[in-house]
Amino acid sequence: MTRLLRSLLVLLLAAGFVLSGARADEPLEKRDHIEIRGIYGGMPKSLIQGERRLVDAGVNAIWIGERGITKAAVATARAQGVKLFAEFNTVHRAEYLKDHPDAAPVGTDGKRAPAPHGWQGICPTHVAYRAWRMRAFWKLLATYEIDGVWLDYHHAHSSWERAEPALPDTCFCERCLAQFQKDTRTDLDGATGAAAAKVVLGKHKQAWVTWRCAVFTDWVREFKAILKAVRPKALLGTFHCPWSLEEREGALREKLAIDLRAQKAYVDVFSPMPYHARFGYAKDPAWISRQTAWLGRHLGVKGVPGESVRIWPIVQLSDWGEAVPVEQVIPVIDHGTRRPATGVMVFAWGRLRKSPPKVAALSEAYRAIGR
Ligand SMILES: [Zn+2]
Repeated sequence: MTRLLRSLLVLLLAAGFVLSGARADEPLEKRDHIEIRGIYGGMPKSLIQGERRLVDAGVNAIWIGERGITKAAVATARAQGVKLFAEFNTVHRAEYLKDHPDAAPVGTDGKRAPAPHGWQGICPTHVAYRAWRMRAFWKLLATYEIDGVWLDYHHAHSSWERAEPALPDTCFCERCLAQFQKDTRTDLDGATGAAAAKVVLGKHKQAWVTWRCAVFTDWVREFKAILKAVRPKALLGTFHCPWSLEEREGALREKLAIDLRAQKAYVDVFSPMPYHARFGYAKDPAWISRQTAWLGRHLGVKGVPGESVRIWPIVQLSDWGEAVPVEQVIPVIDHGTRRPATGVMVFAWGRLRKSPPKVAALSEAYRAIGR
């Protein structure tokens, strides 16, 4: 081989390397605007072994379900120097219905609404259920030195965590109908059940949607008041549906009863759930940053220092619905950490830990963007 040919070969190889380096596995760079690099779904014990600490894996925050929060978990988080946040189930504690069937959501036929895909919600105006959840929220904050609580399943009875959601209209129980008429000064002429649902979703639709959103927002107001009284430095976050207002014919407000702008008065951190693989965007991780960009515009959050409201999306790395290949770890973290996001967490440790290559890729990505 002549020297010229050898040089050409080296050049070609180098060009190939550069091209392949521009693919998804290109290392991420430092992102000073990102304050939180989190893991959702349990204390990642395999990342804490011997001298190895969570910070060595680039992780600085952990989310654990309310029932998994223990004194030991708090002690581990403190020893590791990471933040510990609890996830709190609001209107999805289905076991409550066993002794309180009157708390089940009622559908447009005036009967108990079946749980779509098994996701059972609770009627949002059931006074005793609400009081039960508020007490649990208070106790969680009073007992454990945690850095914040994230609301979960804070929306109407539905199944939306999938590519094709099921969004039944509820709740037309006597309690909700009476409260709606009282609060909005609407008269349903004594109609109940299916007849009431028909007129409510007909000429009273806008008043009904607005009222239902206000009911769910009022829960958030009360959660924030408790948090401020018990542990004022803790953050109130919410895991919520990542759809924009316009998507699926306005389902965010009209079906799920989520009014993000109204909740902004009480929520410190919004965590949309753009699970790209699960929701039909398996080959399009850029969907994540498109959804957070919309949320930023909608809430007036830019992801700059000094903002009181923040956006930290929870992104999908574990296989659910469709698989998330290891090659997508970096693009997912990339799109999850673009402004207006100032933090990110990954879903979910329970399954993710069974894939050491993905855990390694996540650690590499977090270390790269960490400050
Ligand atoms: Zn109801």
